[in-house]
Amino acid sequence: MKYVLVTGGVVSGLGKGVTASSIGVLLKACGLRVTSIKIDPYLNTDAGTMSPFEHGEVFVLDDGGEVDLDLGNYERFLDIKLTRDNNITTGKIYQHVIAKERKGDYLGKTVQVVPHITDAIQEWIERVAAIPVDGEDGPADVCVIELGGTIGDIESAPFIEALGQFSYRVGQGNFCLVHVSLVPVLNVVGEQKTKPTQHSVRGLRGSGLIPDILACRSTKALEENVKEKLAQFCHVPLENIFTLYDVPNIWHIPRLLKDQKAHLVISKVLNLASIVKEPYLEEWTSRAELCANLHVPVRIAVVGKYTSLSDAYLSVLKALLHAAVACRKKLVVDWVPACDLEKETEKENPNAYKAAWKLLKGVDGVLVPGGFGDRGVEGKILAAKYARENKIPFLGICLGMQVAVIEFARSVLCLHDADSTEFKPQTKHPCIIFMPEGSRTHMGGTMRLGSRKSIFSVKDSKSAKLYGNKTFVDERHRHRYEVNPDMVERLEKAGLSFAAKDETGKRMEIVELPSHPFFIGAQFHPEYKSRPGKASPLFLGLIAASCGELDSVMNPSSAHQHLISNCPKNVFVNGNSKKASNGLADVRHNNGYCNGLYTR
Ligand code: GLN
Repeated sequence: MKYVLVTGGVVSGLGKGVTASSIGVLLKACGLRVTSIKIDPYLNTDAGTMSPFEHGEVFVLDDGGEVDLDLGNYERFLDIKLTRDNNITTGKIYQHVIAKERKGDYLGKTVQVVPHITDAIQEWIERVAAIPVDGEDGPADVCVIELGGTIGDIESAPFIEALGQFSYRVGQGNFCLVHVSLVPVLNVVGEQKTKPTQHSVRGLRGSGLIPDILACRSTKALEENVKEKLAQFCHVPLENIFTLYDVPNIWHIPRLLKDQKAHLVISKVLNLASIVKEPYLEEWTSRAELCANLHVPVRIAVVGKYTSLSDAYLSVLKALLHAAVACRKKLVVDWVPACDLEKETEKENPNAYKAAWKLLKGVDGVLVPGGFGDRGVEGKILAAKYARENKIPFLGICLGMQVAVIEFARSVLCLHDADSTEFKPQTKHPCIIFMPEGSRTHMGGTMRLGSRKSIFSVKDSKSAKLYGNKTFVDERHRHRYEVNPDMVERLEKAGLSFAAKDETGKRMEIVELPSHPFFIGAQFHPEYKSRPGKASPLFLGLIAASCGELDSVMNPSSAHQHLISNCPKNVFVNGNSKKASNGLADVRHNNGYCNGLYTR
């Protein structure tokens, strides 16, 4: 096993994750099998308890792991399926070591950060790097490890120490350290400044890690004399210094690295020069260019709670983008704060109320994503009602599906107090109820998490067709509440169709309104498994319906045809394509556009 460690210096938010994933893509394009590990030096054992507003979305894996959103980046870029152990946190490591201490495994020794924590980190990395993640047998060739945070952070010190020991242990030729740094330009002099990078490399060396490669973020390409200066002061060969200047979208990065021969440098450091092929990045290049040339907009409202931070819905955004690109449309996302659609807001802040409704009424399709807690729920219900009544394409995910059912029960069954027991435990008409898979009394561990089967019960439903008429699909879940099985018959009689259910037939997985052009809710989160070359079927349905092209994607043969005819050579043509990437974020926020590397 060979290891590529990616560290970051100077400031956070440099796009270390995108750089690390792009290195993975480049190596994969050279014919190597690649896996990845993300180290988060925070104390939380996993991301499950962290607020999306503070830390971005919680990404969910097949095994139910609730992990940092960067893992989503790796899954999308490399088209792999990671495990919860691929995300290492300080909390996990300490929990592991303390559990061993309680069992008496340290035989009376004083348990210390060095060597016990640092050993545990190294063992964890070696064990997890060997887990196959690409559907093939046996360990990958290369493991890309991203160390979260910035060199010099107090909390990453044990990891730095462990990685220093690790690089020595695996030896030269098996370990390559890429340090991502910033080269700013000061407006006054207009000169690219190397000092911050020099300092951060000094910090790195001082902690026992020696960089093989510098990947420098800058607005423009590094000037030759700047590179020379960096080489001289940081003791890194000139050809090992890469410039990662701002690009229109992040799908350009693998190509940017390839053009600077990063694959040759890395394979030389890792002693792989004799086996790597010339990287084939055609699909990436075409995709990056295709995106830049999409002009016909498809406008989608995302009605959520955390609309001021798009990272809170990162996978939803990526899945929308994958689908929009597959339909050759330019994705425009209008973030609608759910609260602002509510009657309360009309009184308290009429301008916000008007603005939210104006946005909602201007879109081609509506998406209500998942969520917890009652803030904004009434607004989401109003959005579902608006979409249902006005025949606007609608996709509800998890909570989004639940609000669609509540709205239907209220408006169509005239059960005015219909609600979820999550928000109104005493409601007379609980159409969404707590249905844990495990214990009913303990909240902790009662979440239905990870991959579960949804079996299609209505064969000619839109969702079944979008999924290519499969008998079942495996999608990822993260919820506690479900459609109340006792109300299913009544809802069905009134025209709601439960197109897919779990294996017991008791949990409703997909709900549809057959009388509507496109009104679908899913209890699972299809966004987690969407890939740039393989857009999630339900997202594809939403986008296609929003631009009046649903029929062409519903029939599997014409869907295939649709993608072929809509895509340039080598892009998205093959549904089984192994190449994947994260999406670009050329998406409109309430506060303007955001582009490029900084947006993951
Ligand atoms: N809060 C809802 C539940 O627990 C929905 C969760 C979600 O949207 N992820 O069932």
